[in-house]
Amino acid sequence: MSQKSHPTESLLSDPNFYSCVVSAIAPRHSFIPSTNRSNPYTDLTFAGSLIKYFGRRDEKSVIPSDIFDSIAGLCASKVYDPRIACGMTISESTKVVEIVLAGGANVIAAETVAHARYIWSSVRQISKLGPGDRRSRKDMERKMKRQLYSFILPCLHDDFEKYSPWIRNWVTCHERWQRNLRREYPANSQEENSAVLFSKIINLQSTFDRCQSFLDDNDWDSSRIKEKDFNWLIQTLQKASEQVNTILWGKDMINLEKEREQSNASICNDEAHPLIHGLENLTRLPDHVIVLQIFASSSPMKALSDYDVVIKSLPPIYGNPCSAWPTSTASWKENVEGLLDSMGYRLLNAAEVSSQGISQPPYGFASLPTSSREIFVHPELQVALYLRDFRTKMYFDPESTAALEYVGTSDYCCAACERWIDEYDTFEPQIQQIFVKGFSSVWTTDWRIPDYDQIAIAPSMVSWLRLLIVAHGKIVEK
Ligand SMILES: [Zn+2]
Repeated sequence: MSQKSHPTESLLSDPNFYSCVVSAIAPRHSFIPSTNRSNPYTDLTFAGSLIKYFGRRDEKSVIPSDIFDSIAGLCASKVYDPRIACGMTISESTKVVEIVLAGGANVIAAETVAHARYIWSSVRQISKLGPGDRRSRKDMERKMKRQLYSFILPCLHDDFEKYSPWIRNWVTCHERWQRNLRREYPANSQEENSAVLFSKIINLQSTFDRCQSFLDDNDWDSSRIKEKDFNWLIQTLQKASEQVNTILWGKDMINLEKEREQSNASICNDEAHPLIHGLENLTRLPDHVIVLQIFASSSPMKALSDYDVVIKSLPPIYGNPCSAWPTSTASWKENVEGLLDSMGYRLLNAAEVSSQGISQPPYGFASLPTSSREIFVHPELQVALYLRDFRTKMYFDPESTAALEYVGTSDYCCAACERWIDEYDTFEPQIQQIFVKGFSSVWTTDWRIPDYDQIAIAPSMVSWLRLLIVAHGKIVEK
């Protein structure tokens, strides 16, 4: 048997390399995403500054972390910056609120910065209104919602194209499951339990269908939509979003999941995630608008209304390339084979691929970056590092300055970012902990470890990524 040439030492200690290996050999669905939208169980106990300025959740207010996810989500766009992370620093002595934005691989567009400024100033204007200004409040809210929806219309259209089939599939699959149940257990009462939830979902599906055909017909250009029609879209989506919130955290959903688990309904288990995530993804943008609307009339926002706002956009960070970085698809394959060989594994061969019923080639070497310009520090980590630097500089003035512990993101973090934040939290004193809303099942090919505390964090990231390769990679022992 021929001896594989093993990757160089520098590549073997580079977490960026392992992250690429995971993305090339592990199927996406290996990673179970976390769903945290408006999750009342998110533990923000240690997010002291966040709670100090934005409060805890009570019946009327929003979860403070949602405000930042909403700002990030509403600033992301197809045209300018598809991914946004945002954080905040507050200085009581100078009365300045600083909103920190980071994007993907590019410098953030001026339009995105202007939009973030618009968001904060409209929220601030509304917060200054007194209880007697109901009419002005309504007018301003309407204006703000229209402006926000105009900005997100192309993304909203994409969300509908992508996720409304998930709901349709789920409904079809659920009906199949119910038919099977009735056949196997004619006297089963389980159907009763989920009937209410099922009818709610059917109703939502028809609402989503109507919204989708509206978005399809309206060419994404809000200036051509009649005021009346635009209001219909906004109201319909806001209402659907509120219904989804009740469903996601209601007993019905938990019962349904339990029922399926107990009945071992393999025909449906694959579709269980798409329902939750499909509902969530279809209404994430309308939900952000609701969050800001509630936040605008909240006491935490009123307390900040006489603060000036500064919008700071962070430049992308590419870092230094590893000297032995693979520069071609062939070199990637060779390096991965060498790595697996040293770990006692190998890639599946063609016969094994076909016997496992994998229709697509299981390895994505061709999509791996062959230049260091393609990997960059993800926006959430850029913001996390900025907040940390700010905190370090301001440690002598903790009473009147704060870098909030939360990083809002337009999408869920990738799993690598979430893990990096976990490692960072472990190695840093508790006061510098950073929170994010959760991670998605998407494993990116452009992840880069920040140049921060590499001695502590990089080896742990490497060990974790090696475990993932063994646990999720399409590989076999030699
Ligand atoms: Zn990431």
